[in-house]
Amino acid sequence: MSFENLGLNQSILKAVLKKGYTKPSPIQQKAIPLILKRKDILASAQTGTGKTAGFTLPILQLLTKEKHPGGKTVRTLVLTPTRELAAQVFENVKGYSEFLNLKSAVVFGGVNQNPQIRALKNGVDILIATPGRLLDLHQQKALSLHQVEILVLDEADRMLDMGFLRDIKRILALIPQKRQNLLFSATFSKEIKKLANDFMRQPVLVEVTPENSTVDQINQKAYAVDKKKKTDVIIDLIAGGKWQQVLVFTRTKHGANKLTQKMVKCDVSAMAIHGNKSQAARTKALAALKNNDIRVLVATDIAARGLDIPLLPHVINFELPNVPEDYVHRIGRTGRAGAQGEAISLVSLDEMTYLRDIEKLIGLELTPEELEGFPLTDKPGDFDKPAGSKSNQRRNNRPKSGNSRRKPFKRKPKS
Ligand code: AMP
Repeated sequence: MSFENLGLNQSILKAVLKKGYTKPSPIQQKAIPLILKRKDILASAQTGTGKTAGFTLPILQLLTKEKHPGGKTVRTLVLTPTRELAAQVFENVKGYSEFLNLKSAVVFGGVNQNPQIRALKNGVDILIATPGRLLDLHQQKALSLHQVEILVLDEADRMLDMGFLRDIKRILALIPQKRQNLLFSATFSKEIKKLANDFMRQPVLVEVTPENSTVDQINQKAYAVDKKKKTDVIIDLIAGGKWQQVLVFTRTKHGANKLTQKMVKCDVSAMAIHGNKSQAARTKALAALKNNDIRVLVATDIAARGLDIPLLPHVINFELPNVPEDYVHRIGRTGRAGAQGEAISLVSLDEMTYLRDIEKLIGLELTPEELEGFPLTDKPGDFDKPAGSKSNQRRNNRPKSGNSRRKPFKRKPKS
């Protein structure tokens, strides 16, 4: 299957060629023909699968068929949960539409709205927006949504996690009922299915087969580490392995700051991104990682959501997320679009419940290995409790018999 077979026009093919893509990714092969047929689609696809081009390329083609109606109207609305993802989708849209006569803009909160108002003044073909700023600008009559033909909800699961359901409903009430709907989500929870049922018209379910999914291209490892030794372990792994471009996840903003400071003290260049950092600081930190000016970016889940860091070789979970789906999002930052990546999780005893929930979600056992040079003070056998989150939690809180291990944990020689 080639991009030529997908029915895209020459100007779009030229932009794709310029990007250097040789073959459409599985999600692109499935989604592009359906979107061109004006179907609603419900696609399970995480960042790293090529989903952005999967919806952008066919949308561009559909938009070239008719002229912009004029005024402050928007013809396609792409909603994203975070500013970073919005900015990144916008960059993609600009790249793919380079040889077309279509206008695009992006709006998100946390920055001055005047340039955004100016960009919307004569209407746009595609607007990428976070829900809050979009509603703000709509209220100020900076744009008109009554001509929206295509609506995209990108990373819909995260939008719901972030509490955007009410905003989404308000936006749905502002756009025409007759439109094409495209929903992309890494996971399909009950809430996502309900949302889809409420606003889509017989959507076609698009799923990429597990063999092609990003998760399969990622070498996933878990190391059993005493909680208090995690900082030493991570610095040892990164410095010892001479790793560059490492994305590290912490659970809290404070944790991200603390870890960053410790790394810098140990001569491992690092920056942190989280909700308390300004947009400018986040953009700067991401650019520094991309340009190899720093080795490590320490991020919280919300800040890292949707970041596009091509060919990122290492993702480390300094702490496991308590929502298993976040693990899939996190490791989706590596092994993207065909490249191999490595995702390492440092698991302390109190996180075994989280690990078991993650294993259930991804259908893979990640038995934590002990690292040489960092012997465990916590009893090693405790790192190998059977899956089953609730009961596991209780087990961890119970006096240990010490002989309940199902399978011995592995010992990993220090490389
Ligand atoms: P996305 O899943 O949309 O965040 O895209 C992940 C990465 O894959 C981005 O860096 C894209 O530029 C890249 N990409 C998208 N489609 C392709 C393709 N067909 N071949 C190679 N890389 C691609």
